[in-house]
Amino acid sequence: MPDTLKQTLWFDPATCLIGGAWTAPASGRTLDLVNPSDGSVICQIARGGAEDVDAAVAAAQAARDGAWGRMTALERGRCLTRLGQLVTERVDDLAALEAMDVGKPLSQARADAVALARYCEFYGGAADKVMGETIPYLDGYTVYTLREPHGVTGHIVPWNYPMQIIGRSIGAALAMGNACVLKPAEEACLTALAFAHLAEEAGFPPGALNVVPGLGAEAGAALSGHPGLQHISFTGSVPTGALVQAAAARNVVPVTLELGGKSPQLVFDDADLDAALPFLVNAGIQNAGQTCSASSRILVQRGVYDTVRQRMAEAYGALTVGPAAEDLKLGPLISARQKEIVGGFLAKGGDLTVAAEGVIVPHAPASGAYVKPTLFADVPPDHVLAKDEIFGPVQVLIPFETEAEAIAIANGTDYGLVASVWTGNGARQMRLAKALRSGQVFINNYGAGGGVELPFGGTGKSGHGREKGFEALYGFSQLKTVAAFHG
Ligand code: NAD
Repeated sequence: MPDTLKQTLWFDPATCLIGGAWTAPASGRTLDLVNPSDGSVICQIARGGAEDVDAAVAAAQAARDGAWGRMTALERGRCLTRLGQLVTERVDDLAALEAMDVGKPLSQARADAVALARYCEFYGGAADKVMGETIPYLDGYTVYTLREPHGVTGHIVPWNYPMQIIGRSIGAALAMGNACVLKPAEEACLTALAFAHLAEEAGFPPGALNVVPGLGAEAGAALSGHPGLQHISFTGSVPTGALVQAAAARNVVPVTLELGGKSPQLVFDDADLDAALPFLVNAGIQNAGQTCSASSRILVQRGVYDTVRQRMAEAYGALTVGPAAEDLKLGPLISARQKEIVGGFLAKGGDLTVAAEGVIVPHAPASGAYVKPTLFADVPPDHVLAKDEIFGPVQVLIPFETEAEAIAIANGTDYGLVASVWTGNGARQMRLAKALRSGQVFINNYGAGGGVELPFGGTGKSGHGREKGFEALYGFSQLKTVAAFHG
């Protein structure tokens, strides 16, 4: 390991956290963690397996039965708030790890670290504010509800936004008093490990948070099918989500699925184009397009189509792609494999018009996973590039004439994660907010700045259940009804 890396990695990355002990996986096996900016091996990480998952679930259950289960909501909230402070103190270290591991530009990695701190702060403050209610009922009864943790929760997260997804899922689960077992992605798990080290420092008792890195088919499958869990939160691809749900169903364990998308932005003739333009492009190319809520379809009404196409093409021409540390607009994709997948989609666009491309800086290492951001124009709504999630910096421009046509195109994929509407017409804004099949609809913006407070989730193949905001606290708890008869 190079000396500079030793300074950044202040912990042993080849270990699992189980019941407060950092240990090598039972098999003793490790995996290479690869830097997508140049293809080099960063370090070895633990290749956890079923035995480690068993131990982690047992440790989590012991924490629920012990010190963690006895903590009050106020005490849990204080632990989370302290954790948020520690994350804030280490924002630059966490950003450096994430940029190296995921390949995302340093300033974007930093924003993710800041968001992680904000999740801890939000859920720390909310922990003691989730309450049941009393229910007016028959004479002689007093009826009320209690909000209780599920117990042991499993969290399987992807590589594209490790810190943000850990924050929203683990933050809410811990706030409600669940004991968590986290399986980070094998492609990027350093900030998950760093976060768990900081959680120990923040005073979470042993077993409240356990981490088992490893392959999806090994540690992930073992966790999703584990009978000792009472809830699973999964963020990742549709096929894996279906496997996780099937495995959990065998134990009748509830699942939250945050899956993919093919999110549209609808630009009407009366839109404020100056306001829309930055969002139209950024929402598609942020994190090199490897974002579940990436806006990969831009639907534009005929009257402004040529203008939008030209202005987006100009913006694409100014997009630069290079190593994460250089903090350009785009970094590499996560891996050579992802580059191959995106390249396959670009080849399928061979029959389409390329409106514009970005530029890979000439000194970008050939061994890095770089692709040029690409904008396609005049794309038929049923073309594979307009239907399938690409998970790369690729956007398609689709012209439309009428509002009804725009709605039909927007709703015409299997997904339903995010949609955005650009129009100055208030009545149309309200109609579209109802008509679009989507977990989130943004009006004259895209993403609303990603606020921690906003519930987030999908419909259709984008998944089910909600994370973020207060809603996540309901998802990570269950309701008990108490009915007392006193005559
Ligand atoms: P993936 O499904 O391959 O992997 C996600 C996680 O699942 C990883 O930790 C992986 O190890 C694990 N996994 C893989 N096989 C498993 C199995 N058989 N059992 C249990 N776990 C298993 O997804 P990915 O390629 O890493 O991520 C990209 C996908 O995630 C995209 O489709 C993207 O849209 C989606 N995503 C969704 C959101 C959201 O909030 N909706 C956020 C980020 C990413």
